[in-house]
Amino acid sequence: MVHFTGPRRDDRDPTALDPSSSSVTGVSDIDDSVNGSEKQTRGSSRGDSKLSSKRKRRRRAKDGGISEMNGHSSVSKRRTSISKAARDPRDEPPGKERKKRVKVEGPDTRSPSPVIDFDGLSRPSRGTRERLEESTEQAAERLEKMRGAIRTILECVGEDPDREGVLDTPTRYAKAMLFFTKGYQQNVRDIVNNAIFHENHNEMVIVKDIEIFSLCEHHLVPFTGKMHIGYIPNNNVIGISKLPRIAELFSRRLQVQERLTREVANAIMEVLKPQGVAVVMESSHLCMVMRGVQKTTATTITSCVLGCFERKEKTRNEFLSLVGLNGSGR
Ligand SMILES: [Zn+2]
Repeated sequence: MVHFTGPRRDDRDPTALDPSSSSVTGVSDIDDSVNGSEKQTRGSSRGDSKLSSKRKRRRRAKDGGISEMNGHSSVSKRRTSISKAARDPRDEPPGKERKKRVKVEGPDTRSPSPVIDFDGLSRPSRGTRERLEESTEQAAERLEKMRGAIRTILECVGEDPDREGVLDTPTRYAKAMLFFTKGYQQNVRDIVNNAIFHENHNEMVIVKDIEIFSLCEHHLVPFTGKMHIGYIPNNNVIGISKLPRIAELFSRRLQVQERLTREVANAIMEVLKPQGVAVVMESSHLCMVMRGVQKTTATTITSCVLGCFERKEKTRNEFLSLVGLNGSGR
């Protein structure tokens, strides 16, 4: 483990939740399809499929056919339960249908290439392991190597590396760089630390304005901004401070904004398995502001929506308007 002399946050420090970030528990349309199948299960477990379908018809009329839009499977399921009368739905243990539904949903909503390795380290994990498992000597060796490289940079830009003001800069910068990239040696499992709780809250949860400080992998200069994370639980909620910490894990490494956004969304999908996740990030890139096009007010916005946020425009727009981005026309 590398020892940081710089200001290193305690991993269990509750203040790790950014003070400027606020959490919103918004009213939302819960995933109609899952909710629908839950109702169906309840109805059929009493053997009362007529009542159930009546309810659903009412529901469709009420929500303007939205549940019908995503509810192809639940509609066909209802028909099946009526036409196949020989098979008593009460034979099925309660909740079985719901489980099946989640299983079917899996390949669509889970990321095809998980961002989390088998042991909880986030990919790419080779460098991560080397940093995590290094001895004190190896850590000193790493620091010395970095110092040499930074001294070379000082020489190359025309500085005198032995000048008093910059004499310790290689050491300081090496340590700062290790801090900026500490996400490489953090483990998602340690961060989540069993803070996933069974809760029948299936409405949208949003943590917005999470401050992000990351390094552009193309220029090694910072990009900073705000991230907004929303999810709709599937009977499990995650400790609210864990979302900014997952965002920090992925931002404290060399990144491009698009990938950072996607990795945070995929990681939450992976550890929590909610109905859906939405991540939006707005940021300003110093490589754009200080060099290149020098557009100081330009903001880059990236988003990644998974699960029900991807399937349902209404849910997506509700998230976007709750985080202050106009959802219409997207
Ligand atoms: Zn850049």
